[in-house]
Amino acid sequence: MAASTSPDVLIAGAGPAGVAAAVALVRKEGIDPSRIVCLDRAGFPRPKPCGGGLTGHAFDALAALGLELRVPSAPAGTGEVVYGALRRKVALARPVHVVRREEFDADLVVQARALGVAVWEGEGLADYAVDADQHRVLARTTSGRSLEARVLVGADGAGSLVRRRLHAAPRRRTPQPLRLMRLELPRPAALDHLQGTMIYDFSGFTEGLRGYVWIFPVPGDRVNVGAMHYPVSDLGGKELDALLGRQLARHGLELPSSARGWPAWPYDAGAPVSAPHVLLAGDAAGIDALTGEGIAVGLEHGPLAARAAAAALRSGAFAFSGYARALRRATVGRELALDGRLARLLYGARDFRRWLGLVMFDRGMLDLYAARVCGSAILADRKLELIGVLARHLVTGGRRGRALAEYG
Ligand SMILES: Cc1cc2nc3c(=O)[nH]c(=O)nc-3n(C[C@H](O)[C@H](O)[C@H](O)COP(=O)(O)OP(=O)(O)OC[C@H]3O[C@@H](n4cnc5c(N)ncnc54)[C@H](O)[C@@H]3O)c2cc1C
Repeated sequence: MAASTSPDVLIAGAGPAGVAAAVALVRKEGIDPSRIVCLDRAGFPRPKPCGGGLTGHAFDALAALGLELRVPSAPAGTGEVVYGALRRKVALARPVHVVRREEFDADLVVQARALGVAVWEGEGLADYAVDADQHRVLARTTSGRSLEARVLVGADGAGSLVRRRLHAAPRRRTPQPLRLMRLELPRPAALDHLQGTMIYDFSGFTEGLRGYVWIFPVPGDRVNVGAMHYPVSDLGGKELDALLGRQLARHGLELPSSARGWPAWPYDAGAPVSAPHVLLAGDAAGIDALTGEGIAVGLEHGPLAARAAAAALRSGAFAFSGYARALRRATVGRELALDGRLARLLYGARDFRRWLGLVMFDRGMLDLYAARVCGSAILADRKLELIGVLARHLVTGGRRGRALAEYG
């Protein structure tokens, strides 16, 4: 492939992970923006199904990069967990801000461009090949342009082409994706009291859902609704759609049309996240298995990819053999690993009410998780408290499970 452009770093994908990588390269690693090309197959604003909840970790990651939230958002200072008729509220010391991803992501692109980063829209990565002898990646775009880069960052989302390449080798266990679906609806008057509240409804467990249905406020008297399903039970798209409709009806919400399902890969600390000259970030590397959260993950992965890329450009060593460890050991990696274990406990349990009882009845657990959502706590650093909560639950879990059965 003849190269027409030769950036040091080529970033595929201009979502939160790609923009965070680009901005970190400039602001944190001192790379000249003219040495970076970020390309996205979509034109911004582009459709992006998402709950849009910016947690405390997302805010901290934005601030660390000098990025700002400049689009309308609906602040939610209360979380509510629901199971049947049982509702528990938890105060969020720092509100989660719910954005429309179309607006949020387009504005992040504007902020990256203001730094001098070239963001090519409507032109995706079509193919690439690594020429390790020449220390370069040869890439072809969907418009047929050729590029020659030293590092390729695959921030190209859940359907990542780069991820597929890195995961091409057969693996011991075939991973299954989380499934998420989402719609935005007008908020009915009956839900006016929900302003400022994010609902996480676990009632769908009785119908086979292993995850939750959410109702989040969005600007303009509307709600963002959806469902997340962890792949331990086999619910197809149609079944999930019907389940979402039934569960929302309990809250007085009617689905006007089918909600489309989207896959997302849960982070797996053992899965490949790099190859010589190539790094993954954001959804391409994997998201939170417990919550389906990935905006903060992308914003936190981006700078880690930037650090690894900058170090390689300085040293001339592009193997990236330490990148998986860097992701694992960073706060984001430790939180993802912990949430992966909690997801297996909560969603994988045969007696689901026993573990759901932990969420619905243990105030300590709710407060700990609320602190994590606010960004005031790193749960992975509070293992002792968590072990205390889990130990208490081992004793009381049976009783809590039976109490929960009275609600559904
Ligand atoms: C229904 C749903 C609800 C969700 N709710 C939440 C939530 O409430 N909170 C939260 O934190 N997370 C949520 N997530 C997850 C969150 O949306 C993602 O984790 C987040 O967008 C990841 O950012 P990213 O930059 O890695 O990927 P993306 O935002 O998907 O960006 C990837 C970009 O790559 C581009 N691209 C794809 N292929 C190519 C290619 N070949 N070449 C160039 N560009 C390419 C795409 O156009 C896209 O712009 C949700 C996800 C879904 C599906």
